[in-house]
Amino acid sequence: MDIVCLDLEGVLVPEIWINVAERVQIPELRATTRDIPDYDVLMRQRLAILKQHGLGLPDIQRVIAEMGPLPGAADFLAWVREHYQLIILSDTFYEFAHPLMRQLGWPTLFCHKLEVSAQGEITNYILRQPDQKREAVKRLHELKFKVVAAGDSYNDTGMLDEADKGIFFDAPAQVIAEFPQFAVTRSYAELQEEIRRF
Ligand SMILES: [Mg+2]
Repeated sequence: MDIVCLDLEGVLVPEIWINVAERVQIPELRATTRDIPDYDVLMRQRLAILKQHGLGLPDIQRVIAEMGPLPGAADFLAWVREHYQLIILSDTFYEFAHPLMRQLGWPTLFCHKLEVSAQGEITNYILRQPDQKREAVKRLHELKFKVVAAGDSYNDTGMLDEADKGIFFDAPAQVIAEFPQFAVTRSYAELQEEIRRF
């Protein structure tokens, strides 16, 4: 029995923070872990910027709902779910992913949580578990599943490494060069082919 584990941002939906930054026209929100490597510092900065601009969770959710999944993502997921069990392993937050999951037919998603005040202000974030993508694949192996995993960036490499087969989807050249052991795909057709060959 095989399980397919997929990253969310950059694989099925656009990069959430970058798109939110563009849509609300706050360039400082574009910063990623490439600019600020300490994730906690980065998240505290993001939450401070949202607060400063008076943006609460409902505002952000409206913006995210307009993003929609990447073209072809829904059909690709339908194919995966017909032939495999699917789990999406993401470092986003349930509250952000919610409007996108609706458009993808509510697949299983393991990610993190936000703390939100009654007024909708995002007050904190809670990482469920460190290195959760790799840990999830380990637990699936303990349950005797075989796992094929696909992702597009550094935060996926633990999951790809732990999986029986790891596949890059539309990853930057620099990431691919650092991890030459993983298959490289650029389209859903190629990704489908690599999963099928597993
Ligand atoms: Mg990603």
